[in-house]
Amino acid sequence: MHEKCGVVGISLQDRDAARPLYYSLYALQHRGQESAGIVTHDGFQQHSHVEMGLVGDAFDPDDLESLNGANGIGHVRYPTAGSVNACCAQPFSVSFKSGSLGLSHNGNLVNADEIGDELADLGHAFTSDGDTEVIAHDLARNLLEEDLVRAVKRTMNRIHGSYSLTIMHDETVLGVRDPEGNRPLCIGELEDGYVLASESAAIDTLDGELIRDVKPGELVVLHPDGTGYDTYQLVENEETAHCFFEHVYFARPDSTIDENLVYEVRRELGRKLWEESGVESDVVLPVPDSGRAFASGYAEAAQDEGSDIEFAEGLMKNRYVGRTFIMPTQDERERAVRLKLNPIKSTIEGKKVTIIDDSIVRGTTSTQLIQLLKDAGAEEVNVRIGAPPIVAPCYMGIDMASREELIAGDQSVEEICEEIEADSLSYLSIDAVAETLDTSRADLCLGCVTGKYPYDIEGEATDRDVARPDIGAPSPADD
Ligand code: SF4
Repeated sequence: MHEKCGVVGISLQDRDAARPLYYSLYALQHRGQESAGIVTHDGFQQHSHVEMGLVGDAFDPDDLESLNGANGIGHVRYPTAGSVNACCAQPFSVSFKSGSLGLSHNGNLVNADEIGDELADLGHAFTSDGDTEVIAHDLARNLLEEDLVRAVKRTMNRIHGSYSLTIMHDETVLGVRDPEGNRPLCIGELEDGYVLASESAAIDTLDGELIRDVKPGELVVLHPDGTGYDTYQLVENEETAHCFFEHVYFARPDSTIDENLVYEVRRELGRKLWEESGVESDVVLPVPDSGRAFASGYAEAAQDEGSDIEFAEGLMKNRYVGRTFIMPTQDERERAVRLKLNPIKSTIEGKKVTIIDDSIVRGTTSTQLIQLLKDAGAEEVNVRIGAPPIVAPCYMGIDMASREELIAGDQSVEEICEEIEADSLSYLSIDAVAETLDTSRADLCLGCVTGKYPYDIEGEATDRDVARPDIGAPSPADD
């Protein structure tokens, strides 16, 4: 599984925004490793530097020096819509009659093709096949006739899907979160300005203070002089559709998302995992790194009930091996798992082991891991997963796998247990996830674990009363 992107936007009082943007992109590197970019505005013109590769490789000191201006936006990307090449790297920046625009997008529109076709018929020429450019063109068109806030609202009424955006119109930086709040976005205060970011860890990196999450359907406009910000609730929605996998897997444990510290959520999910399906064993091992908080919560809940189960590190991760999803073939993925994890025999040999992971996607890692532990002398290997089974793909910006590749796509828990050769296997329930996030099931996106989505997606079921916007309505330029 792979998060699509991370976005950031900064307005400062009296210094260039390039370096703070660069540092915050470092903090969001886990959200995208394919490309990184920054666009700034110095009050007269836009400056842009966008490169393929990691943040540390994409910028040198001269690049940062050339990005003048106290206002700017940034982006790290891993593609799920659009090609894997430089033309889709972001921020997307362009000059229109209505001024210059820069746009960073985390999420995925489900009606980008329809809007793109309509705009192409009206004469708009696209340079990429990504949905971000569609948003930029639609917004630019609306800006010809509307003020900034109305233009954003008009675009929000046309686009359908998940999006957290940081936008720069001339030197004004904006943040927008989709009406369902599917992807995260928060606002923070710096000593001399304000910052918008996908995760609060980016604000911490700049020694800033998290103010709050941007609300679903809300627009935040930073003052270009770095002295404040205005907010506009542009779309009201009764239900939200927060992606629960942000807490389970994607976000950094030190980030606070929708008022929940991710680390604490993972520990609580681990506690619930013990309550729902705890199994007596000698030792509980996290699958590094994201299984760690789950495993410590699981072991703590077990010990609270008088169990002798011990929490231990039994698997060492080689941090210098590429993440498994970068490997394009099954064969390469299998080898990568073996390169990536090595067991510590003394904590495993002759013991009944429970391993805790955050998810099972294709099952490749789990199968390899169980074999690894048995080879290291484990008497028994039980598997506990801190999320419900993934039965369907994600259309909202997460690179997961196709339905056919998902091990839980057409198999029961018992069948999966047999296939990965575990001694027992249990997943956490959806209700436990909702309870931990202190929300109702109706306010979460559960598409990948129920097969019913909070958006109107062609060929898929929905779990609510949603309809795509009528994008055939003429935009202001046609009025
Ligand atoms: S389908 Fe799953 S991964 Fe995708 S947004 Fe919904 S909860 Fe998140």
